[in-house]
Amino acid sequence: VPPVVAIIGRPNVGKSTLVNRIIGRREAVVEDVPGVTRDRVAYQAEWMGRDFTLVDTGGWEHDAKGIHARVAEQAEIAADIADAVIFVVDAMVGATATDEAVVKMLRRIKKPVYLVANKIDDFNQEAESHALWSLGFGQPYPVSALHGRGTADLLDDLMKKL
Ligand code: GDP
Ligand code: MG
Repeated sequence: VPPVVAIIGRPNVGKSTLVNRIIGRREAVVEDVPGVTRDRVAYQAEWMGRDFTLVDTGGWEHDAKGIHARVAEQAEIAADIADAVIFVVDAMVGATATDEAVVKMLRRIKKPVYLVANKIDDFNQEAESHALWSLGFGQPYPVSALHGRGTADLLDDLMKKL
């Protein structure tokens, strides 16, 4: 069974864009991963010849439940099914109260967390990622999910420990 990587983060930070970037054209929804439902879409992914399953936890973003309830659900998903977590933050916005709520949940579940400072579309914006050190997950990976910048370094490190 390939390892499962859950992508966590508040709405609009770029989770789905990152999923699309990572799976490229090999997009294929995986339906037999336990715990995966309509709101937790799983995809087959591959990096350097190794298969893994990527779970986008953001299917819920426009429904009526409160954001904090949903953040708790994401963490629950991560705790239940993930071997590792990619936590995505919008580096251009910086850490919000909702991001801090995600952090609290992630601390509790004790899975390896890879912090992505997303929307770093060019070198000049990289300084924006340093502020996210304060979230407590070490050095953030500066990434542009939109353009593919930084995703190779992220995946290299992720696969080393999966
Ligand atoms: P999600 O709600 O976390 O799944 O976020 P989406 O993937 O739907 O992206 C939300 C918005 O951010 C969309 O308009 C994306 O095009 C935009 N976006 C995502 N990643 C990037 C990025 O790396 N750079 C920029 N400039 N925009 C991005
Ligand atoms: Mg999404």
